[in-house]
Amino acid sequence: MKAKAAVFREKGVDLKIEEVEIDNPQPNEVLVKTVACGVCHSDLHFVKGSILGPVPTIPGHEPAGVVEAVGSAVRSVAVGDHVIACTSMFCGRCKQCQQGRPYLCMDRRACQRKKGDTPRISLDGKPLTQFADLSAFCEKMLVHESAVVKIDDDIPLDSASLVGCAVTTGVGAALNTAKVKPGSTVAVFGAGGIGISIIQGARIAGAKQIIAIDLVPEKLDIARKFGATHTILGGPDSPDGDPVKAIKKLSRGGVDYAFDAVGLTQLSQQSFYSLAPRGLAIIVGAIPHGQKLELDPGHFYVEKSIIGCFMGSNRFHIDALDYLDFYKQERLDLDSMISERLPLEDINEAFKMMDGGKVTRTVITFD
Ligand SMILES: [Zn+2]
Ligand SMILES: [Zn+2]
Repeated sequence: MKAKAAVFREKGVDLKIEEVEIDNPQPNEVLVKTVACGVCHSDLHFVKGSILGPVPTIPGHEPAGVVEAVGSAVRSVAVGDHVIACTSMFCGRCKQCQQGRPYLCMDRRACQRKKGDTPRISLDGKPLTQFADLSAFCEKMLVHESAVVKIDDDIPLDSASLVGCAVTTGVGAALNTAKVKPGSTVAVFGAGGIGISIIQGARIAGAKQIIAIDLVPEKLDIARKFGATHTILGGPDSPDGDPVKAIKKLSRGGVDYAFDAVGLTQLSQQSFYSLAPRGLAIIVGAIPHGQKLELDPGHFYVEKSIIGCFMGSNRFHIDALDYLDFYKQERLDLDSMISERLPLEDINEAFKMMDGGKVTRTVITFD
């Protein structure tokens, strides 16, 4: 069947709305009519060339929609179900999956079509490789069953879509990766979609102090609405001065957890240096390929740690439903995270806005 999609061909060239051909589901696949898809920094990194992958492709990996068809072996969803999707699909059989870490699945190929099969998506008669195995900036998505989770019909799909990446990554970074303790102190560098999600995760976990750091004053105001107890304006001319010193002063000696929500080596360093003894720094944002992170080893004497975080260490089929329960209980605010809704045709505009650094989350909505 035909579907309209935003196709990316090369760095520096705007995405173009084109018609692609979507195949019918194989036994373990689900066809979803896309209703909403958040625009993530990983999409932006990809179209700017700082993450590499096969082209042409259709970006987009934070979607929600309605199931249109299912393969013969699919049991977890049915036609008409509302679903959200995440790129953390999994085989269920490899060592990481068996140890309860499906987000680190070592056999992702099990969730893709076999070589020689008809491609899930083709463009101009040629196979198109799915971005994040989802390719969600498209009217329809054909994905592996493990990529989708059924959600309640009364949850608005635009808000729910954010759980597909930003919320799973950020809330999961606080709850799963860092395991933030009640009464602890937290610093979050970067108050975009991921940073706001970390702040909410830390608030849900019961942190007593949550310090948000960003270069944009408006984003600090937003951070307070989502649970930041203190804010620090970053940048060389900031009246708040050096963020590390400011954090140490506010927290009386350093925080228990510090998150780099952006993925910049300077912020990773500052996260590490802001910690109290025994503190934990978590690198959540993706540091661009080829860069090196340098750390003053003296900080290890007081038993500080620094760790990575991939997709909020998620078990999507459990976490997503927890997060949507938090949403229903008004403990997790998804609605206010959406700063803009745009049609697919405005995808390039959405990327420009995100690059400008002022939006929390833009969601592409489909009719
Ligand atoms: Zn993402
Ligand atoms: Zn696996």
